Amino acid sequence: MAKIDLQLPTIQNWSCHNCGGCCRQHLIAITEDEKQRIDRQKWTEKDGISESVAVVEKNSDSKTRPWRLGHQKDGACVFLQDDGLCRIHAKFGEEAKPLACRLYPYAFHPMGKKITVGLRYSCPSVVANKGAGVADQIGDLKKYAKAVVPDHYQQTPPPNITPKEKSLEWSDILKVVSSLDAAFEDAETPFTLQMLRTVSWVNLLSQSSFEKIQGTRIDDLLELLIAAAEMEWEELPTEVERISRIGRVMFRLMISVYGRKETQQELDSPWKSRLLSLKATTKFAWGGGQTPELYEMLPPVSFAEIENFNCGLPEGFDELFRRYVRMKIQGMHFCGAAYYFYPVTTGFFSLALMVPVTLWLARWIAIGQNHDQVTQDDLELAMAIADHHHGYSPVLGLSPFRKRVEYLNSFGDIPRLILNYAR
Ligand code: SF4
Repeated sequence: MAKIDLQLPTIQNWSCHNCGGCCRQHLIAITEDEKQRIDRQKWTEKDGISESVAVVEKNSDSKTRPWRLGHQKDGACVFLQDDGLCRIHAKFGEEAKPLACRLYPYAFHPMGKKITVGLRYSCPSVVANKGAGVADQIGDLKKYAKAVVPDHYQQTPPPNITPKEKSLEWSDILKVVSSLDAAFEDAETPFTLQMLRTVSWVNLLSQSSFEKIQGTRIDDLLELLIAAAEMEWEELPTEVERISRIGRVMFRLMISVYGRKETQQELDSPWKSRLLSLKATTKFAWGGGQTPELYEMLPPVSFAEIENFNCGLPEGFDELFRRYVRMKIQGMHFCGAAYYFYPVTTGFFSLALMVPVTLWLARWIAIGQNHDQVTQDDLELAMAIADHHHGYSPVLGLSPFRKRVEYLNSFGDIPRLILNYAR
């Protein structure tokens, strides 16, 4: 196999703290080979696996992974022990586990000729930046990359730059990506101001024509747009513009996706799940009365309470969001093959919307916990809930969702939403 050129994040720590959260939240789809390996492991009651639960079940959602691991009554993976450890790992070692379990929370994405390593913020240890530096884990990462990157990988086609413009070379796309990352590098500038400026120049970029702008001209264009955005947003405004009526509805519909938890029970009764989802969507579109049931961590509270919660932000807000956004950019986890083939500009808007989405969920958690302001724990939990879907939930890849992101940008609502909730 050819050598894989890995690009590692420099700003993230992570080690597994055995919280078992991933083994409770995720449905683990496995290949035919993995199923056969688990069959050969011959799990019985003596190993703590009840005969009343299936070890492996059919997965009709995927042709390449036609099976999934079974679940205990509370929804946890059939192999999860009470101490938060994995039975397969304990009995046969790490390599005997399904690949998806071994990789999580790492994600490997194409970046020109390189493969970039990202991390999923649905893992609480990633959100809290706990553990060893990811860059120091190169040995394990090389091993995992070999398992996921196809033999003789050359490079995938680059993502489109805007919804209308297609063909830029990877080298030009990477100039835009590195400008996006640089926009959040300075830890002295408030994150919210950095995000407003970046949304502004990406919006100008999304309206540009690239027919004659390639190579060094991209550098000139970026310099010009970034300077214009800095002039537009010299500092954070004291007044917040009203979000358009339609923008509010679209935003709430986004929350109804990001706040959901897909449980084993829902998969077992898809009609009930669809009905619940339809009811939740209707309630979010209306935006009045009590919030519907989406997730056990999000108890019913009133929509009005969430909207009017004047809570301030915890001290760690800037560091957490700056790291999150930079990790998604460095990991190419916002556009192209890693993000439903969104163009770079639309993908960035979608990432920017994670700020108000997460803050809205954090308010919901805070009110449900009777906190008088959003705490760092509320914010971290909200991020873990929302990021579980970002790049993974199929709904986000559908055309209506993508159009919602583009509409919110064209109505000018993205900066308003950010400012409204990041107060
Ligand atoms: S197989 Fe092990 S690591 Fe994978 S989800 Fe189940 S308990 Fe967790």
